[in-house]
Amino acid sequence: MKEGIASGSPHVKLSVWDAPDLSRPTFKEATSHKFRETSVGESFGPSWSTHWFKVQLTVPKELAKKDLLELHWDANNEGMVWTEDGNPLQGLTGGGERIEWILPKTFRDGKEHIIYIEMACNGMFGNAPGGDSIQPPDPNKYFQLVKADIVAVNVVARQLYIDMWIIGDAAREFPTDSWEQHKALKVANQVIDAFELGNQDSIIKGRKIAEEYLGKNVSSDKVYKTETTPLVYGIGQCHIDTCWLWPFAETKRKVARSWSNQCDLMDRYPEHRFAVSQAQQYKWLKEYYPYVFDRVKEKVKKGTFQPVGGSWVEHDTNLPSGESLVRQFLYGQRLFESNFGERCRTFWLPDTFGYSSQLPQLCRLAGMTRFFTQKLSWNNINKFPHTTFNWVSLDGSQVICHMAPAETYTAEANFGDVKRSVTQHKSMDQDETSLLVFGKGDGGGGPTWEHMEKLRRCRGMSDTVGLLPRVHMGDSVEDFFDRLEKRVADGLDFVTWYGELYFELHRGTYTTQANNKYNNRKSEILLRDVELLATLASIKTGYKYPKREIDDMWENVLLCQFHDCLPGSSIEMCYDDSDKVASLEFLCNRFANRLDLRRGVRNRRKDPEGSLQKYWG
Ligand SMILES: [Zn+2]
Repeated sequence: MKEGIASGSPHVKLSVWDAPDLSRPTFKEATSHKFRETSVGESFGPSWSTHWFKVQLTVPKELAKKDLLELHWDANNEGMVWTEDGNPLQGLTGGGERIEWILPKTFRDGKEHIIYIEMACNGMFGNAPGGDSIQPPDPNKYFQLVKADIVAVNVVARQLYIDMWIIGDAAREFPTDSWEQHKALKVANQVIDAFELGNQDSIIKGRKIAEEYLGKNVSSDKVYKTETTPLVYGIGQCHIDTCWLWPFAETKRKVARSWSNQCDLMDRYPEHRFAVSQAQQYKWLKEYYPYVFDRVKEKVKKGTFQPVGGSWVEHDTNLPSGESLVRQFLYGQRLFESNFGERCRTFWLPDTFGYSSQLPQLCRLAGMTRFFTQKLSWNNINKFPHTTFNWVSLDGSQVICHMAPAETYTAEANFGDVKRSVTQHKSMDQDETSLLVFGKGDGGGGPTWEHMEKLRRCRGMSDTVGLLPRVHMGDSVEDFFDRLEKRVADGLDFVTWYGELYFELHRGTYTTQANNKYNNRKSEILLRDVELLATLASIKTGYKYPKREIDDMWENVLLCQFHDCLPGSSIEMCYDDSDKVASLEFLCNRFANRLDLRRGVRNRRKDPEGSLQKYWG
């Protein structure tokens, strides 16, 4: 798959600055330091430390005219590529998840070009021992830089590799008594027979043979522009747990890495649609990565990057008070509307541990008539019986709920995911369509070029030989629900589910991390009192209602209601953080220092009856 490779000096020169004390310095600060020479083979750590690399790239003459040049960078951890003048371009995740960055055409001039790579000493799942385990993280992990190469990619060979991946899946997964399975086997064998090692013509011939099974259009988004009717609608997603096996500080970087990747992917795959929830993550991006936020804003305008969810974070729904649930929507929708001109229409909560019966009512009041999840597919006792249905609150309010039949929000966009979107669909008596939510997730990442290429082939196969459900890319989550709502308006009757959507797994979430839960409840009560008193004071005295400060405190409380934080499923360092940002002590200090309410209350001239004094003694 490689037509050439350049490693080491003079083509790839590396130097590094190690940030002290597990700090996460800015580009400006990092690049103001002196860098020391380093090379592939050196290890970097410990866990959670940050290392900034200056990468001096000179493309060798013999690679300058190749079709596609990539930098392959793998240290088995996460990284961000920055331009020489400080713009964050794209995230990297080692261990084969996403290790390539495409070199700009301007780098082919034979001269030296500089980029920086910010290395975070954690993997996609933090520093969990054994990969993604929920045991306490290993504090002393080191990461070896194993690859830093300029690679000329054999684009045709890469395309044939994906062709064979999907045809191979058809040969393995279609029923053995179907002609489609036999044909997949025959075509795959013909490609293998035609292949000669080192012979480019044989690769081109292989692709020609594969067309017989996949059709002629799988190398572009043209494959989706046919008159046929799809059943499965692909939506890119990168679930980023706002904290879980890593702290909030790392999430801020994960957001920038993951979302910049998606902006890049949209430039290369026009059919790409990417749905993103959690207002808090947008706020962080705007504050810390304005360059990426502007890219996101531009894609939102185009309709390819789609804000969904309407809430501040993807929160727990069982423990927060009713007022908190309302505030999740109020603060979330306010951010979406003020930044993107529109409120979300679909509540998006794929990974939360159960769903309170009040949600349809609150969704409706927040302007959302649709709800997406899939978590109940993880139930360990009862199979939830529906895929698309009306979910009804105690007061009779209802929303259309869809639970992706592929039973994941992190699908790898495989043949099997598309197939399961029909074989596991439980509401086909009413409507046979479904969402396929794909992309690397939990620790961020999102769709990769491989996901996009696989789905193109799945669609090509459906239109050429059939049998596989027809997948479509290019429609939004709202398009999907609009179609369902239209069918309902035309008389379709979905099955109705009344009350709570109880989740039969992840037990113990009411009794884990008691201090965190105590802080949440106390903060909710305190904020109610603060708002009441501040309102009274502003009416009865000259006190100015401290909206900005109260918003700030609410946002901290809402943040800590995240679905791995409040239920207690995060690592210890997340609770050290939540103790700081949403504890009673913290909020009281802010209350005293920043709201300055006491002074207003004590001003007897403005509050002659002392009507507020009783609250403060
Ligand atoms: Zn999650």
